[in-house]
Amino acid sequence: MSDPVNLLGLDAEGLARTCQGWGEKPFRARQLLRWIHQRGEADFAAMSDLAKDFRARLAASACVRPPAVLQDHTSSDGTRKWLLDVGAGNAVETVFIPEAQRGTLCVSTQAGCAVNCLFCSTGKQGFSRNLEPAEIIGQLWWANRALAKSAADARPDASSGAPSPVSGPVAGAAAGAERYISNVVFMGMGEPLQNYAATLVALRLMLDDNAYGLSRRRVTVSTSGVVPMIDRLREDCPVALAVSLHAPNDALRDQLVPLNRKYPLAELMAACQRYLNDAPRDFITFEYVMLDGVNDSDQHARELLSLVRAVPCKFNLIPFNPFPNSGLRRSPDARVRRFGQILLDAGVVTTVRKTRGDDIDAACGQLAGEVQDRTRLAQRSSRTIAIAELR
Ligand code: SAH
Ligand code: SF4
Repeated sequence: MSDPVNLLGLDAEGLARTCQGWGEKPFRARQLLRWIHQRGEADFAAMSDLAKDFRARLAASACVRPPAVLQDHTSSDGTRKWLLDVGAGNAVETVFIPEAQRGTLCVSTQAGCAVNCLFCSTGKQGFSRNLEPAEIIGQLWWANRALAKSAADARPDASSGAPSPVSGPVAGAAAGAERYISNVVFMGMGEPLQNYAATLVALRLMLDDNAYGLSRRRVTVSTSGVVPMIDRLREDCPVALAVSLHAPNDALRDQLVPLNRKYPLAELMAACQRYLNDAPRDFITFEYVMLDGVNDSDQHARELLSLVRAVPCKFNLIPFNPFPNSGLRRSPDARVRRFGQILLDAGVVTTVRKTRGDDIDAACGQLAGEVQDRTRLAQRSSRTIAIAELR
């Protein structure tokens, strides 16, 4: 008998095709989407409006299987992090950042990363493998369920600091179902545009009104600059785009982001301009890790302004999050402020990324080197996190 098909990793089209293969009507796909993603149901027996024989068929030939959770930590500021098992000693992380008006989930797309940026601990660990669509969307599926459960458990005691649902309408939310996640950012481990097919399936599910119903403007793909795939994303599924820039010229960016040697800045800027023709937002967000004495001088800021002259953009300055043996230091706060002021004075909206979840070490890829040795994970001292919202 063949392995059961994991329905969690199928978008509307994939589910319709699978249902058709079973001789079922296409609307079954919509029903399944709603059960699995809106209601977070993994047990076919509980899907009460499906015919009994269809449920029996599902139980025999399909499953809804998210990655297993190895760890679940909540920080004192409400930031919550899950470490998920993706097999063969690999684990990836997902981080939830609650704020007054929204809840943001930061998802991973690969175990490790092949781009190998100088300042990134995910990159330093090398590339293990691409995540499957079910492993990417499974992060959102899991987080939704876990947050709803925590809220339900805490209801008798409203002062417990449990998550509260995001206010305002969340399209696609089932009647009566509360949603805690209003935004998703692809800023966890891995380069989403080097795992394009799986990222696309996950994006389509995030946007589907029968699944998570998120607005395109509230889903952000962050890339180190895989130029041809930026164009593919524009054609297939334009969502908000963040580009990890980190340097104002090719000589420096070649060192910091080795992918720059393949897709240099002129090509990257042109791809950003093309993207804006179809993007749901009218600007690109440029991320810029602030590295002491490396890319943080006044001159670098001015050079940056001339580089992005033709690209409507906002800047998000990220204080470097140190890790052992990186050989790099975070720019002092005053330097970050001064750098940001130069951009602001030239009329470019610039934010400095807040740090959240300090006590659970919830940073982008910061678990990277540790997943093979889980005992050390528990003992680690706090470091700062640099995941936050794009405004
Ligand atoms: N691979 C994608 C998305 C994941 S990384 C990308 O590079 O854009 C998400 C963000 O975290 C990127 O902007 C990345 O440059 C940044 N980042 C990586 N390591 C970091 C560190 N040690 N300190 C601060 N930011 C870091
Ligand atoms: Fe990969 Fe992004 Fe880390 Fe670079 S910063 S190594 S692209 S995860």
